[in-house]
Amino acid sequence: MEQTLVIVKPDAVARGLIGEVIRRFEAEGLTVCGLKMVRLAHTEAEGFYQVHRARPFFDSLTRFMASGPCVAMVLKGEGAIGRVRTLMGATDPLQAAEGTLRRNFATSIEKNVVHGSDSTTSAAFEIPYFFNQLEIRQPAECGETPAM
Ligand code: ATP
Ligand code: MG
Repeated sequence: MEQTLVIVKPDAVARGLIGEVIRRFEAEGLTVCGLKMVRLAHTEAEGFYQVHRARPFFDSLTRFMASGPCVAMVLKGEGAIGRVRTLMGATDPLQAAEGTLRRNFATSIEKNVVHGSDSTTSAAFEIPYFFNQLEIRQPAECGETPAM
């Protein structure tokens, strides 16, 4: 069983897509183990995306992530990290596969609706960045949701 950190980014929250994003993950049998709305300060967005601090898009990305509320969640399931990334689609919506969240809803390579951890190492940093232990359902309460 894997856990991964997903963020519904400010563009998607502003456009009323919170429910659609969560629905797609639940429909694939992933379980929501933690969920909250957060408004990141710019410095908090910088800390979250620190792996990208040397990239030319870093300042724009972190300002975008702090521009409005996000919805952060912990999703759990077998192979959750890869399954979430598949449902998200490629970073650039023009490269994203048909039927993915980013292909369907992203408006640019930056405003691309959703974040998902890209490895177990990233998930181990990102989950506690947003959630403390009491805010995540305990293993016994958190089986896999049947696929719809
Ligand atoms: P995320 O980490 O948000 O799940 P990702 O893993 O698909 O996305 P990364 O390479 O980690 O992509 O980039 C992090 C985020 O930075 C992207 O989701 C996007 O919002 C933004 N970004 C990435 N590349 C660019 C770019 N060339 N121009 C503008 N913004 C970009
Ligand atoms: Mg990434």
